[in-house]
Amino acid sequence: MELATETVTHVKHWTDSLFSFRTSRPDSLRFRSGEFLMLGLIPGADKDAQQKPLMRAYSIASPEWSEELEFYSIKVPNGALTSQLQHVEPGDKILLKTKPVGTLLLDALLPGERLWLFATGTGIAPFAAILRDPETYRKYDKIIVTHTCREVAELNYGKHLIHSMQHDDTLLELLGKDSLDKLVYYPNTTREHSTNTGRITTLIRNKTVFSDLSLPGISPATDRAMICGSKEFNIEMRSLLEGFDLQEGSRSDPKQFVLEKAFIE
Ligand SMILES: Cc1cc2nc3c(=O)[nH]c(=O)nc-3n(C[C@H](O)[C@H](O)[C@H](O)COP(=O)(O)OP(=O)(O)OC[C@H]3O[C@@H](n4cnc5c(N)ncnc54)[C@H](O)[C@@H]3O)c2cc1C
Repeated sequence: MELATETVTHVKHWTDSLFSFRTSRPDSLRFRSGEFLMLGLIPGADKDAQQKPLMRAYSIASPEWSEELEFYSIKVPNGALTSQLQHVEPGDKILLKTKPVGTLLLDALLPGERLWLFATGTGIAPFAAILRDPETYRKYDKIIVTHTCREVAELNYGKHLIHSMQHDDTLLELLGKDSLDKLVYYPNTTREHSTNTGRITTLIRNKTVFSDLSLPGISPATDRAMICGSKEFNIEMRSLLEGFDLQEGSRSDPKQFVLEKAFIE
């Protein structure tokens, strides 16, 4: 499989454990918003050594039309890749496998009125791509993105994303006039008090999210969903959505929801 060497163009540290970065985009790379690829580095200080690259799955946080690639990353304490990756700076090289894959695709969902994007932690990364894709706004009347983190500061990447989208005239022109009027952002925290405190699964079960957003609930006739979080979160969300009679789909068999793990436990 082709391994591309790309240049880091921008790095931003959001908290002690979260950062995002952008890289140049390989000419040969074609992907759909929501997909992930394998990203990595040559391990160790001596980059000239003929060592096997250390690669991990990463959601592409930039939309498919973007000239650069964006990634949003955790810094795992002593993590094999991220203990090195967190030190990248503009000008550094990273490795990419140019074969993106994934299940979080608009094509894997049947047409509907509302699209729910349920993320925890770095699981917002694929949705950062989907939220900047014009197709999302062509297909749905309302797009609701929920982002659950433990602490308020961990929401900053998502908050900044939504804010910057609202002030980016080039993006607004591309997405279509008034597109962002369809977008609803619902951040929530589990370990620190915020506007929406509690796990999203609890806020769905007790209907708080529906009353907060003046929505009737979730129904297979109108609602579609994508889930990206920890294994436990995905399992709980899947069961909740199935409780609303939604079914899991795929690109070859589109239905009402799809899910992807944000990381392997
Ligand atoms: C489909 C897919 C998409 C992914 N997309 C992203 C992404 O966009 N951003 C990202 O940061 N990671 C993502 N990951 C996780 C990523 O592949 C690596 O696990 C992560 O970069 C840590 O690598 P590491 O070698 O430092 O630690 P690893 O040895 O890979 O992980 C050590 C442990 O850290 C925990 N962990 C790993 N990643 C995360 C995470 N993102 N959030 C919380 N805990 C975690 C897990 O418990 C894991 O067992 C994705 C994983 C999958 C399967």
